[in-house]
Amino acid sequence: MPERSIEQAVEQILRQIGEDPEREGLVKTPTRVARSFEFLTKGYHEDPKTVINGALFTEDYSEMIVLRDLDFFSLCEHHILPFFGKANVAYIPKHKIVGISKLARLVDVFARRLQVQERLTTQIANMLMDELDPQGVAVVLQAEHLCMRMRGVEKQNSVVLTSAMLGVFRSHQETRQEFMTLVNGGNVR
Ligand SMILES: [Zn+2]
Repeated sequence: MPERSIEQAVEQILRQIGEDPEREGLVKTPTRVARSFEFLTKGYHEDPKTVINGALFTEDYSEMIVLRDLDFFSLCEHHILPFFGKANVAYIPKHKIVGISKLARLVDVFARRLQVQERLTTQIANMLMDELDPQGVAVVLQAEHLCMRMRGVEKQNSVVLTSAMLGVFRSHQETRQEFMTLVNGGNVR
């Protein structure tokens, strides 16, 4: 049973770092960590296509749809430490739109896995491109990585930005600019 073995592994780690897994504060820690891991990696058991396809509508709308400043939390696959921040997701439909809440779910499905920020960004963008067949998709993630901050690797307060621009967001500078203006909190004129 996999959860059991996560517990055993955590107990092992506690011993290896010189702790006593039997002491009061740590007795339930392996179980807690196992449950926590189950939650933080639940994206492995969710199908992003199903999330999108369950909420597709045919609609004659061809303006930009932007989901801005969505909180996301993920784990870096190199250190299994959190990286988290804001996701900005936009698309311009061709004939299909998807419920806004599903965009948030989609980000979550990919974020709740071991990730690198670059791949997380492109996975979200590519999935929307494939499933919605829109005129274009834009995804910008800004995140801080605890594996850098806690380990003192990078300057404190540094934020990592990644972006994926597909379709018209790639080919039309004006469209990309409109998106970036919206993301940066400005109004489109
Ligand atoms: Zn890392």
